[in-house]
Amino acid sequence: MRIILIGPPGAGKGTQAAAIKGKYEVAHISTGDMLRENVSAGTELGLEAKGFMDAGSLVPDELIINMMRGRLSQPDAAGGFMLDGFPRTVTQAEALDELMDEMSLALDAVVLLDVPDETVVGRLSSRRVCSSCGAIYNTKAHPTKAEGICDVCSGGVIQRDDDKEDVIRNRLAVYHSKTAPLVEYYDKTGRLHRVGAAGAGDAVRRYLESLKDVK
Ligand code: ADP
Ligand code: ZN
Repeated sequence: MRIILIGPPGAGKGTQAAAIKGKYEVAHISTGDMLRENVSAGTELGLEAKGFMDAGSLVPDELIINMMRGRLSQPDAAGGFMLDGFPRTVTQAEALDELMDEMSLALDAVVLLDVPDETVVGRLSSRRVCSSCGAIYNTKAHPTKAEGICDVCSGGVIQRDDDKEDVIRNRLAVYHSKTAPLVEYYDKTGRLHRVGAAGAGDAVRRYLESLKDVK
């Protein structure tokens, strides 16, 4: 299976991808996670990307496309992948189409997780992540058992810098101007599936699981 998840920040792309990863035995590839790893490791890419990320702006296409070219040719992606956070611009989508052509691969589905802006702001401002294992929590919907401590690995649970409200508003504006045009890009070629993702997430999970039966 080769699937792309698109949707505004906070639509639940990362959560859903992590939840169904085992079912499909595909690589879960999150550009946000990859970039954050580069920032923590202090790589050249991380240094270039950090300012854009902190402001809630997009990292330049060229950097992302190079990073993804390398990532998609890793052995674990050969059996399929679920892309979370990429592509995020029409330029990136075109580059992905080219890359997949070169590799003689086809996309199985592009799934849009549809969520209203107000829901996004509510969710992201209460989102917390484990700084060690990446587990995702929510102070309202899914709090940690002990305050600030990860249920999974006992690591420290924190708020991402870009989950502060003014940055969230900027990320949403960027989503509407740069990423929303992808919906039409994929719809035109009949590859888009829309799923309402404002609820608890079960509908999205069931939908993603059902793609396997279609295939
Ligand atoms: P979100 O919760 O907004 O989906 P991500 O973890 O996917 O957040 O991404 C965090 C940040 O990393 C983005 O705000 C952006 O700066 C950068 N980023 C991630 N993926 C891309 C991409 N495909 N193109 C450009 N920038 C990206
Ligand atoms: Zn953890």
